[in-house]
Amino acid sequence: MQIPFDNSYVKLPAQMFTAQLPTPVKAPQMIAVNADLGAILGIDPAMLTAPEAVQVFAGNHIPDGAAPLAQAYAGHQFGNWNPQLGDGRAVLLGEVIGTDGIRRDIQLKGSGPTPYSRRGDGRAWLGPVMREYLVSEAMHAMGVPTTRALAAVTTGEDVFREDVLPGAVIARVAQSHIRVGTFQFFASRGDMTALHALTDHVIARHYPQANGPAELLDLVIARYAALIAKWMGLGFIHGVMNTDNVSIAGETIDYGPCAFIDGFHPDSVFSAIDQYGRYAYANQPGIGAWNMAQFATALIPLMPDRDAAIEAFTAAVHRMPVIYEAEWLRAFAAKLGIANPTEDDRTLITDLLDLMTKDGADFTNTFATLNTARARDQFLSRDAFDTWADRWHLRKSDDAATIMAQANPQIIPRNHRIEEVINAGRNGDHAPFHALLAAVTNPYAPLTDDTAHFARAPSEDEQVKRTFCGT
Ligand code: AMP
Ligand code: MG
Repeated sequence: MQIPFDNSYVKLPAQMFTAQLPTPVKAPQMIAVNADLGAILGIDPAMLTAPEAVQVFAGNHIPDGAAPLAQAYAGHQFGNWNPQLGDGRAVLLGEVIGTDGIRRDIQLKGSGPTPYSRRGDGRAWLGPVMREYLVSEAMHAMGVPTTRALAAVTTGEDVFREDVLPGAVIARVAQSHIRVGTFQFFASRGDMTALHALTDHVIARHYPQANGPAELLDLVIARYAALIAKWMGLGFIHGVMNTDNVSIAGETIDYGPCAFIDGFHPDSVFSAIDQYGRYAYANQPGIGAWNMAQFATALIPLMPDRDAAIEAFTAAVHRMPVIYEAEWLRAFAAKLGIANPTEDDRTLITDLLDLMTKDGADFTNTFATLNTARARDQFLSRDAFDTWADRWHLRKSDDAATIMAQANPQIIPRNHRIEEVINAGRNGDHAPFHALLAAVTNPYAPLTDDTAHFARAPSEDEQVKRTFCGT
């Protein structure tokens, strides 16, 4: 299989990674392969379906030009500092410059242990692999910056968690896998050689317009604020916004116990390990700023005047909520069909969200049907909704229907559908996975008889209230 690798991370100082081959697996089988993404990477579609592809994506065969490695990083996990994390169950195969000129990583996740595995087995099971594939491709289809899924395979081996589970590997593609925690790793060790090299690499690769660390910080903050506003506009909860899961390129990364909200409540939490709701829906923007404060801290050693840098970087982090609020207003105004939002529109939006909260209205379907007579069916207090809708009709733009159709997905990967797909997958039936994937990668299309069931909110007993890391 020909992949046009062009590797740059491997040329950085040796302490930034460890050369590491994937560990071969017994009997890999293809679940899915992404020909559209393959084309962007310059991979011949015929090769993606050839028998060799499954060996490549399982880590059994290393294609020419790959330079497999595991990256070192650290991070704050639920606010607690962990000085040593790193790719514990992933290897970077290498980088490719796509047909669009963008450099991207191709990484195998679930590919076996590395020096950073600590006590883990380096493996993943089918559930999280399917979830990451579906959710990341749905996010891409909805215009959210994200890592993408190139392929998923089963390994033919068992993985031992609370249960015996089928093993799987996902090949994912990212603008890079460099995290806030990558900077923290070297800053915390006082490794200035690596910190300088990493910063230069990130500026050249992701932010060529940045002139030094201060401008880099501003640009990362702006991208991250815009990303979180997009999540909020879709009712998406990442679930594990640890600093090691924050991409410096501003992509959604490390899909674990993530979820889209069904019945809306701003305090929603799905992750079974998030006991105190640190990463609840409404906390995401505040946690985002906290994460950027950690990034700023890691950049301070690069600055000649420490006190001046602390002052400037503090101001930069304090600008994040301002940038975020503007992005949030833009995102939600579009959902209401308002082309040119003003500050006055904030109350119109928050009043709707308050009504949705009170009645547990389905987040996606409220917006998807808002421009129809069916919207009021989402509410228990229909009079209150009608009163709100009167205000909204006076305010929305003439082309509201067009704006709203592009801002409000009809179909998202709902938790209960993902669970169904995983359960079928465990029994060797991947047809439901492919049906859901087709639906969520075409999220704005009008519903048909074939897709309507994917848009339906879960009934009381279908509701999935907890999601798991599945590591
Ligand atoms: P995550 O929950 O994906 O953010 O992972 C946090 C850290 O734990 C990362 O350093 C992972 O590489 C590591 N990790 C998670 N699961 C495993 C596993 N099964 N084996 C080895 N390392 C793991
Ligand atoms: Mg992670």
